[in-house]
Amino acid sequence: MTPGTPDRAAFHEFVSRHRSFLLTTHINPDGDGLGSEVAMALWLAANGRTTRIVNDSVLPPAFAFFARHVPFESFEAEGAERRFTESDAVIVLDTSNRQRIGRLAPLLDRHTIPVAVVDHHVTHARGFGQVNVIEPEASATGEILYDLIREGGVAITPAMAEALYVALMTDTGSFRYSNTDSHAHRMAADLLTHGLDPQRLHSQVHSHASAERLRFFGEVLSALELLAGGRLVVLEAAPEQFQRHGLAGADTDGLVDLPRTIAGVEVVSLFSEVEPGKVKVSLRSTGRVAIDQVCSRLGGGGHIHAAGVLLRGNRAEARERILPELHRLIEALPAGSPAGAA
Ligand code: 5GP
Ligand code: MN
Repeated sequence: MTPGTPDRAAFHEFVSRHRSFLLTTHINPDGDGLGSEVAMALWLAANGRTTRIVNDSVLPPAFAFFARHVPFESFEAEGAERRFTESDAVIVLDTSNRQRIGRLAPLLDRHTIPVAVVDHHVTHARGFGQVNVIEPEASATGEILYDLIREGGVAITPAMAEALYVALMTDTGSFRYSNTDSHAHRMAADLLTHGLDPQRLHSQVHSHASAERLRFFGEVLSALELLAGGRLVVLEAAPEQFQRHGLAGADTDGLVDLPRTIAGVEVVSLFSEVEPGKVKVSLRSTGRVAIDQVCSRLGGGGHIHAAGVLLRGNRAEARERILPELHRLIEALPAGSPAGAA
C-alpha cells in the first residue's frame, strides 16, 4: 500500500533494536487483533526474537485454534508485571487508543518501555508509541502486517498466512464491507496459495453460536425499531435479557450487522446494556453515512462505517446522546438511492 513510509521504516528499525517483545491488543479482542498478534509473533520468531502475548481478555472460543501456534496469556497482575520486566519492548496491535488495552495500560506508565503501535483505526491523536504505524486506509491491521512482513524479507509460512487471512476475513465481514478493496482481495489470493482452507477457517470462527445466543438475537431483533423513514435501525438489549439467556457482552458479536440487510437502511445502532448503568453502543453504516465521529466525540472510536463507544447511564440516556446526531447525519444525505438498494 504505502511501502517505505517513514513510519514503516521506523518500525523495522524498532524491531531490529530489540530482542524480546510483549504483544498486546484491545479488550474484547477480535480476529484482526488476535490474528495480528499471531502473525507478528511468528514473524518476530523467524527473525530470532522472543515474544509473549498478554491480553486484557481471555482468548475467545472462536479463536482457540490460534493457540496451537503461540501461547496466549490473559491479564493477571503478577504475571503481567513479570512479562513487562522481561521484555525489551511492547507492540500494540489493532488499537491506537491506550485505554483500549485495558489493564495493561497502567503498566505502560510504570515501566519505561519502548512502545510501537500498528493499527488501522481512524485516530486524531498521533498514537502513543515511540513508533506508530497507523494506516486507516488498510482494511485490517493484518493487512499492514502482511506488508510489513513482506518488506521485512522473511517468507510467509502457512501459520502466518492463516493468522493474516483470519484477520482480513473477520475485519472485512468476510469480504463484504466497504473496506474490501483490490489490495484486500490480492492479499487473500496470495495467502490462499499457502494451502489454507477458507471454508474451514470461516466455520471455525463463525460456528460458535449457542441456541441461547440465537434465541437472544431473535428477541432483540423482534423488537427492532425502524426510524428516520426506514433509514435508521435501533436495537436494544437489556441486562435482564443477558442474564436470562446466560450471555455476556461479547455474545452480541454479529448482531448489529444483521439489520444492514434491510432495504433502505443507512445506519444500524445497538444499545447493549450488559450491566445496569453501562451501555455499549455499536454503530454500523451501510456506506453513505460516516459514523466514526458520533462515537469518537464521546470518547469511543472505530472506523468510518463501524464504530463503538461505552457510555455510562441507562439505555434511554445513551439513545439521547447518539440518536439525534444519527438523525442529523441521515437528514443531511443527498437524495438518491441508499447504499443497500443500489
Ligand atoms: P463493535 O461495535 O464491533 O464493538 O466495534 C466496531 C468498531 O469500533 C471496532 O473497530 C472497534 O474497535 C471500535 N470500537 C468499539 N467500541 C469502542 C470503544 O469503546 N472505543 C474505541 N476507541 N473504539 C471502539
Ligand atoms: Mn481491526
